[in-house]
This record gives sequence, structure tokens and C-alpha cells, in this order.
Amino acid sequence: MTAAITGGCLCGGVRFSYDGAAGPASYCHCVDCRRATGGPFAVSVRLDAARLTVTGATASHTKASDAGSPITRHFCPACGSPLFTHTAGAPTAYVKAGAFDDPALVRPALEIWTQSRVPWAQVPEGLEHHPRDRNG
Ligand SMILES: [Zn+2]
Ligand SMILES: [Zn+2]
Repeated sequence: MTAAITGGCLCGGVRFSYDGAAGPASYCHCVDCRRATGGPFAVSVRLDAARLTVTGATASHTKASDAGSPITRHFCPACGSPLFTHTAGAPTAYVKAGAFDDPALVRPALEIWTQSRVPWAQVPEGLEHHPRDRNG
């Protein structure tokens, strides 16, 4: 079977593949994502965690989000590239859009945590947006 989506980190030590279509991509303006990515926001693609295959060990860091739920961010221990967010037991994983081999597969759909958006963040027009998380 040919994976529809592949990607990985800067050094190639961690690779992933996914056998479905990419879910919507969200721009997250929360302070934690800004710090973790080093950019104005994180762009993450929602995928079904059960269909995501990761090769190579990731390191991870878990911290409660501003909304209070624990978020585990996985990254490459060798090159530091942020790769995906997945909390144990959750059905979804959020893969960093910049890790995709083919960026054309990324479909921006929404912005979250716009209450902490920085003035130098530029995003496409017309996205659904939420001041806090998807429920806020
Ligand atoms: Zn790496
Ligand atoms: Zn965030």
C-alpha cells in the first residue's frame, strides 16, 4: 500500500507515513506553540492517530495547555524538529504541517487561540477562528 502522506524531521532520523487523507490544518496562536516552534504560530494537520506510522524514536515534552488538558509534543531528539502532538489515548494526532514532504497536501482551515496572536503573524484570509481552543 502506498501512503498518501509522508514526512519527517530535518535530519531524517524520524519519518512518518499516513494511509488516509489529511484533515484540516489549524493555525495555533497559543503561547506554548509559539515557543515550541520558534515561529509566530504552529500549523498542525489533524490525523487519525491509529493510521499514523512513525519510524525512529521521538523525544517528547508534556505540559498542560492554557485550556488545562495535557499536551504532549513530540520532536526529533537529534535535530529538534517539532513533529507532532499526541496525548496518550487520544484518537487524533496533530502533525506539524512543515514536516510534510508535500506541503500542497496541507489545507488551512482554522485559527485557534487568536486571543494571543502576535501582530507579526500573517495567516490566509477567511479561516474559521476561535479566541481559545476549538470549543472557545
Ligand atoms: Zn531529526
Ligand atoms: Zn497551540
